[in-house]
Amino acid sequence: MKLRVLGCSGGIGGELRTTSFLIDDDILIDAGTGVGELTAAEMARIRHVFLTHTHLDHIACLPLMVDSLFPLLNKQQPIVIHAQAQTIDVLREHIFNWHIWPDFATLPTEDNPVMCYAPLAPGERCELQGRVFEMIPVNHIVPTVGYRIQAPSGGVLAFSGDTTTNDSFWEALNAHERLDHLIVEAAFVDALEELSLKSRHYCPKLLGADLKKLRHRPKIYITHNKPASEAAIFEECQAAVPDRELIRLRGGMVLEI
Ligand SMILES: [Zn+2]
Ligand SMILES: [Zn+2]
Repeated sequence: MKLRVLGCSGGIGGELRTTSFLIDDDILIDAGTGVGELTAAEMARIRHVFLTHTHLDHIACLPLMVDSLFPLLNKQQPIVIHAQAQTIDVLREHIFNWHIWPDFATLPTEDNPVMCYAPLAPGERCELQGRVFEMIPVNHIVPTVGYRIQAPSGGVLAFSGDTTTNDSFWEALNAHERLDHLIVEAAFVDALEELSLKSRHYCPKLLGADLKKLRHRPKIYITHNKPASEAAIFEECQAAVPDRELIRLRGGMVLEI
């Protein structure tokens, strides 16, 4: 299994794109502005989208992608949006509501739409051709989940989504025997700890404390840094976690799992 980083920034500007990862060639995790990196042909191969939460930086390109693919999707199975029930409710009410964007879950017809929703509850798993997605609740300002993804090879990657201090994510990962890759967020520098707590993101100090809960020793990739703070956040993360080697996640990186 392959994960390609389409976007992993906490903002936009120049080369920066917001969160979206492509698994193999048919699954997206989140649909931030990184989706714009895909060619039309690559986009046409997407069959499933797993969402962590409804914040704009994680869904911005979902409405545009479904619209761009409409003529193609019309002729095949709908794109499946996997998310928590609360996340789906917000998408229906605030995005695909005919005011912001058409309700593609009823187009071209209600019986044969181009997009459909598949609610998943935290703790539940969903298997797609040998790739097993487990939804894990985290602690963000809106209902948010991370994912543990087991590849057909047996390798495992986990993604925290947006979160601050929590036990649920680390306990869920510790409950399994294996973890090879961990993509975890750190949005702000430590000087903005108060803002981190208020917006429920990690700063390096909070992340360092939580990583002590993890019994595994995966490769750790730091993601979702606010623009222009990337180098400072990464330096503080490494200082907060001196016993582990960290990697700064960048757009275009490909992880083999
Ligand atoms: Zn968020
Ligand atoms: Zn975010």
